[in-house]
Amino acid sequence: MTAHIIRPMKYPTDLLKDLIAAESTCDKGELKAAQVIAKWLARHGLKADIDQWDGNRANAVAEIGAGKGQPVIFAFHLDVVPAGKGQWKYSPFEPCEHNGRIYGRGAVDMKGPTAAVLWALAELLEEGFCPDRELIFAFVAGEETDSCGAKRFVEQYAQQAKEPAGVIIPEPTGFEVITSHRGILWLNLETIGKTAHGSTPQQGINAITSMRRLLSEIESYQLPGSHSVLGQGSLSINTISGGQAVNVVPDHCTAAIDIRTLPGQNHQDILDDIRRMFHRLQKHWPEFSADANVIRSVPALETDNHSQFVKNFCSTVGTEKPKGIGFTTDGPFFAQLNCPVIIFGPGKADLCHKGDEYIEITELQKAITIYKNIIKATT
Ligand SMILES: [Zn+2]
Repeated sequence: MTAHIIRPMKYPTDLLKDLIAAESTCDKGELKAAQVIAKWLARHGLKADIDQWDGNRANAVAEIGAGKGQPVIFAFHLDVVPAGKGQWKYSPFEPCEHNGRIYGRGAVDMKGPTAAVLWALAELLEEGFCPDRELIFAFVAGEETDSCGAKRFVEQYAQQAKEPAGVIIPEPTGFEVITSHRGILWLNLETIGKTAHGSTPQQGINAITSMRRLLSEIESYQLPGSHSVLGQGSLSINTISGGQAVNVVPDHCTAAIDIRTLPGQNHQDILDDIRRMFHRLQKHWPEFSADANVIRSVPALETDNHSQFVKNFCSTVGTEKPKGIGFTTDGPFFAQLNCPVIIFGPGKADLCHKGDEYIEITELQKAITIYKNIIKATT
């Protein structure tokens, strides 16, 4: 019989609970969660620098090890989506442990995986581990909204001219190695008309009619190309609003579209195509007037699976082939540092952003063992 090492699981779950209770939604900001991490690291003899802006927004960064070789960055997001109107039996920001699971907003996305990496690190340090290259732990703000924290970190880091060997993002992937995902381009479309009395529509310009014409162009728009792992891009018109009263010709209509892009697709090219639609419509209907604004733009991610960093990572965790995922991460911003980006972590991705979000404690335990191997193998 093999002996099993029983870890005092109180500690990682306590860290996870403190992180959940920090309630780092976009409204409340990430400062409290950054402070939880900094305090926890200080207890383990490590220093984290908190970069604070706009009151309660914050990143935290901790570095360990000597400067030999290229650094490896572990990148986490501190923020969570709001509790929402989803069904919660458990209180989203009062974490609770039940039936071997920790419940709370962020349990799986991604405070559980964050706690697992930090515990892996703490255990290694306790065992006398001393990395022979620099390890950087970056905890960033705003991943769920505008990636402001990742952009800020990358901008600051790029000034050091210390190209990393690779970036590991411990998002929940059910322990699958992910190296690609689609990008997002969210656009707000607006058509502008002229009001008139509903009984004399010929005196006005109907913004809803203009939007109808624009949307039928948008629906027939073909996103170029396909990808061997990620398949096709997609486009969906997901909100529409316009008009003030039944007897007034509307002068304003807006619609939001969700475009999912593939690696290599330039978001500006798509925006230019849409602006060309405006010109075509204007030729047919001179009264047509429209505008498009970017709500959010995150490029697609594609890491070279033949890079040594990816190959080493796969052999450490025992995976043959990296995969793609349906959701988007801060990965493409970290990829701007000119290095491979790998997404890998415990927990089921389909629990993210839902009511009664949880992570299994056994998965956290398994993750600590695997992350210890990863940290050792990267140094
Ligand atoms: Zn996440």
